[in-house]
Amino acid sequence: MKVEFLGGVRTVTGSATLLEKGSLKWLVDCGMFQGGKELEERNWHLQPYQAKNLSFILLTHAHIDHSGLIPKLVQEGFRGKVICTKATRDLCEIMLEDSGHIQEMEAEWQSRKGKRAGKKEAAPLYTVKDAEKSLRYFQTVNYGERFTLANGINVRFQDAGHILGSAIIEVWIEEGGGEKKLIFSGDLGNSGQPIVRDPSWIEEGDVLWMESTYGNRLHKSREETVQELLKIVQEAIAHEAKVIIPAFAVERTQEIIYTLGQFVRQGSIPSIPIYIDSPLAISATEIFKRNPGCFDHETQALLSGGEHPLEIPEINYTRTTEESKAINQDSRPGVIVSASGMCDSGRIQHHLKHHLWRNDSHIVIIGYQAEGTTGRRIVDGAKTVRLFGEEIAVKAHIHTLGGFSAHADQKGLLAWLSHFSNPQLEVFVNHGEEKISTQLSQLIRERFHFKTVVPLWGEKRVLFGEGEKELAEERGVEAFIPEESFSTLFNQLDRTYKRVRRKLKKEKKRGDDLYDPRWLKQLEEINKKLEELEEEL
Ligand SMILES: [Zn+2]
Ligand SMILES: [Zn+2]
Repeated sequence: MKVEFLGGVRTVTGSATLLEKGSLKWLVDCGMFQGGKELEERNWHLQPYQAKNLSFILLTHAHIDHSGLIPKLVQEGFRGKVICTKATRDLCEIMLEDSGHIQEMEAEWQSRKGKRAGKKEAAPLYTVKDAEKSLRYFQTVNYGERFTLANGINVRFQDAGHILGSAIIEVWIEEGGGEKKLIFSGDLGNSGQPIVRDPSWIEEGDVLWMESTYGNRLHKSREETVQELLKIVQEAIAHEAKVIIPAFAVERTQEIIYTLGQFVRQGSIPSIPIYIDSPLAISATEIFKRNPGCFDHETQALLSGGEHPLEIPEINYTRTTEESKAINQDSRPGVIVSASGMCDSGRIQHHLKHHLWRNDSHIVIIGYQAEGTTGRRIVDGAKTVRLFGEEIAVKAHIHTLGGFSAHADQKGLLAWLSHFSNPQLEVFVNHGEEKISTQLSQLIRERFHFKTVVPLWGEKRVLFGEGEKELAEERGVEAFIPEESFSTLFNQLDRTYKRVRRKLKKEKKRGDDLYDPRWLKQLEEINKKLEELEEEL
């Protein structure tokens, strides 16, 4: 059988693997590329996905970096089945529509900008309607049930413990009279995460696709993080102040609700108003409540004891803009949880505007803050940040809590791998930044002596066959890089270079007529790299 690595390799987004056996073609995951123009350009060129010839998409979970291109594929003629758990389908309903909405807004903005430059109108990658339409093709399965996908191919979904409904996918394939087994880890959860179960162990298999998001990092313990959060909330209550938590709408928000609820249930804090101010988070919370079958033991026990883990006495779900605005009239101490998680858009910005400048407010950052985002600037200690065209002073207490991750860390990934008993296991390390995937790949080789590969984008391979080697040697993204990637990169390089020169010039004027030696060293390194490339060409 053949495989092609279409995304989520040497990067964390765009997860997609094309599998081919005889005339049957199917995908595992169909994620959107995110994070920068060059990567996102890939979302527009889906010929290698062969939308019209695909029979199935096996979907590990609802996150956009795994599901986000499904509407685009339907738009391009996909008429097969998208197979996933029920919770994943429910979450996709709100997340894909939200994604369609973002695409429409983005195109509108581009069009407005383009109009002034005399350009044609920009089309969205897909629309809310496309997203709605794509839901027709979804078909749900239960965890743990082995089913026949097609003649000679059987599949089972197991809990990945990452977000509600997330799955590890096992695929058994009849090959040359015997049976071979592929495993797709999807994104693996962090053991001890509230609400969801811990990742299921897999003990057998021939080829494994293994995520590596935090393949080089260790998380702080959850217990420590929960205690830190408790102290912050207690201090805010003592000073009659507010705690603002920017959080991703799915999973993270529900974990915070659960944790705050535990504080109240255990009597560690009195009942205080808690605002969940994000329509997407509210819809997601409802989906959580509708899928109690996915909950872990502790959460199930709360339920059977008559308490709902996602209900707190004074919790307020604010859907409308008016309700959201009214939160700022409430002067009592309390907690506001709002999106986006990186403070870059949405209602959180209003709350930051109201609280960043207050000495007694607390801002609690619980997720990864990408470079260039408002959240990152706050974490990095900016004295002011710009919100709605206004410079807002940062005077509030800023806390960064590291233990709320929905991904296993290096220790967790290795512990999960340690359950495999087959020494012949072959591992494709994916879903990680290049350096991190490579590091984990090496560690797996040393620790378990499994054969490991960090695939390239666009790489094709033949598994279990005579031709395995030939195609394997033919690897290399080079052959598949489209012309436009080069020109995009060149443009980017030109622009960055110009910006750097401009900034350097300014620095010299401003300062003591001297450059920082570190800058010189960095520039020398870049120059050396370019010269090396020139020599190679
Ligand atoms: Zn995920
Ligand atoms: Zn992911």
